[in-house]
Amino acid sequence: MLIDIHCHANLYLVIDEIIKEAKNVGVEKIVSVGMSVLGLERILEISNAHNMIYPALGIHPEEIKMNKKIESQLDYAIAIIRNSKEKICAIGEIGLDHHFVKEKEFYPLQKKIFETMLSLAQELELPVNLHTKGAEKIVFDMLPSYKIPNVNIHWYSGPEEFLNTGIDRGYYFSITPAISYSPAVKKTVIKVDKEHLLLESDGPVKYSGKIGTPAMIREVLNTISKFKEIPVEELENQIYENTKKVFPKIF
Ligand SMILES: [Zn+2]
Repeated sequence: MLIDIHCHANLYLVIDEIIKEAKNVGVEKIVSVGMSVLGLERILEISNAHNMIYPALGIHPEEIKMNKKIESQLDYAIAIIRNSKEKICAIGEIGLDHHFVKEKEFYPLQKKIFETMLSLAQELELPVNLHTKGAEKIVFDMLPSYKIPNVNIHWYSGPEEFLNTGIDRGYYFSITPAISYSPAVKKTVIKVDKEHLLLESDGPVKYSGKIGTPAMIREVLNTISKFKEIPVEELENQIYENTKKVFPKIF
């Protein structure tokens, strides 16, 4: 059984077909992660309508660029997250981004939102799903100040130094379909032990021009199996156990 622990299920035009395809290759659960303030309620709706979709809520670090009203909407977002604490399995997708967000004037507020989200994870005793692109050092420096059940680093492609820090601290790394072409993702797969790997599509993000879907994680599993020289079935069972540890609320 496969579980896609990071998908933006609310961004597909037609979700039914995506779910059917996923089931056909043995994907049985999908975690739909948050992004925009306005998308939070949509994620709750979509998970109510489809029993294999589980919500995670949070504000994505690139939202700072897309949404000029974000600061004034923050209390509203916090209220939705607190009110949904029984339903959600994680706080995410949250973090910092200094790669796609180059404008330094956004950084103080981006950090403030991230701190707010980390405090919520601590308060609600939920794991976090983290975006760290181009800001790996700052994110990794911030994390020890919070008591959070588990840390999941999504699509890690940063410097090896912080990959090593994450490994030492026992963080979980989720691998996307970019494993088929990205040397940085391959390095993550090689270095992280099988007890700390998870699978994700990050759909509908595109891979080599093709819209990402949860069904693609079957191929991600096969590629990891090849790179790590671990039989597919053994790896599938191991990753299932890892997923149970990090996201107990979806079981
Ligand atoms: Zn994402």
